[in-house]
Amino acid sequence: MPHITPIPLDTLLPWIFAPWALLGLASIMFFRRSRNARHKRALWIALMITGNAAFFATALFAGAPSPLIAIAALVAVVGATRSIRRARFCDGCGGNHFPMDSSAAPDTCRHCGMRLDAAARPPAPH
Ligand SMILES: [Zn+2]
Repeated sequence: MPHITPIPLDTLLPWIFAPWALLGLASIMFFRRSRNARHKRALWIALMITGNAAFFATALFAGAPSPLIAIAALVAVVGATRSIRRARFCDGCGGNHFPMDSSAAPDTCRHCGMRLDAAARPPAPH
């Protein structure tokens, strides 16, 4: 593993928190207002990958010990994979479905009853 000079968390956190909070607010507004399921799927995948990569990078650059780096990597990979596979966006009404518990991803939209896609896949190229 390459040697990284740790950056104190007090120095690191403001640079992480401000963009994180802005990204979070912008995402909430987009997912609440947009009815475009294709855009939602693409953004959701990008958010899960960048968000979990940022979480892992924070652990790495803060100088966490190797066992915690390994745990952070596991949490990031499992978290992103689970979130991407379980979220659904309805093509009929644009409704969001983010299962928070351990239940399976929903098959039908709770807003309009339309059948949901099998997976939260990125938009198909035209
Ligand atoms: Zn729907």
